[in-house]
Amino acid sequence: MERGYTEEVLGCPIIPAAGPDEKDVISTPIEPAFGALCRVNLAAEIVRAEALIDFSHLKGHGACGFGGATKNLSMGCVDGKTRTRLHSLEGGLEWDREACTLCKTCQENCPEKAISFPEDSFSVFYHNCRLCQHCVLICPEKAITMKGGAFRDFQKGMALAASQVLARIPRESTIFITMLMDVTVFCDCWGMTTPALVPDIGILAGRDIVAMEQASLDLVRTEDLIPGSLPKGWELLPGTHLFERIHGKDPFE
Ligand code: SF4
Ligand code: SF4
Repeated sequence: MERGYTEEVLGCPIIPAAGPDEKDVISTPIEPAFGALCRVNLAAEIVRAEALIDFSHLKGHGACGFGGATKNLSMGCVDGKTRTRLHSLEGGLEWDREACTLCKTCQENCPEKAISFPEDSFSVFYHNCRLCQHCVLICPEKAITMKGGAFRDFQKGMALAASQVLARIPRESTIFITMLMDVTVFCDCWGMTTPALVPDIGILAGRDIVAMEQASLDLVRTEDLIPGSLPKGWELLPGTHLFERIHGKDPFE
């Protein structure tokens, strides 16, 4: 609700897919475990459904390069514990003491109140930290970074979780619809928006999730970048795909 996802905004009822207390889940082990991803708790309302329409919005993403049909399934059809396990595949936070001006913008904007500055030293309470990387992106000095560049592990973890969802719904009862409109730099979970990166492309629909993701990415072309649509001070990085040139992570990996 804090981020704008209300029935008034969406114009439809909202049903907590894992129940209001996140206890209505079907837990399944990942064997062998993939890092912290030893188990996926699937939202039972999704698993019990007769059909699945994966209705997603393509956009860039600071942690994994982009989000679309797969991310929608893996993050949207599981409980909070599983989302935290998936985020933990990204690694941890690193602080550059030299670059930091102690402005505390990161602390003030951390949604989990996980950051503190005891004796002017950056400290993260990882029990609360969801590795959402808001602090990484909001720091004006770029003094906070994720360790390791483990975005491939995050992408792979999401693919594993999404495959657990898809394994429970017959293929003929599953369809993917992806909006390629208002394609923005950041994930929609931020509860704010930024200018569209490219002109609206349209709506894709299909039954093959890999083909959908491939087609979605193919249609977002660097040469279509709308001037002035990047956040202030950002420049394109080396790379091939537009999302790679924005976030430094190859979305095709
Ligand atoms: S936002 Fe960046 S510069 Fe400001 S206190 Fe946090 S780490 Fe330091
Ligand atoms: S990653 Fe997110 S939750 Fe963790 S310290 Fe940064 S802003 Fe807070």
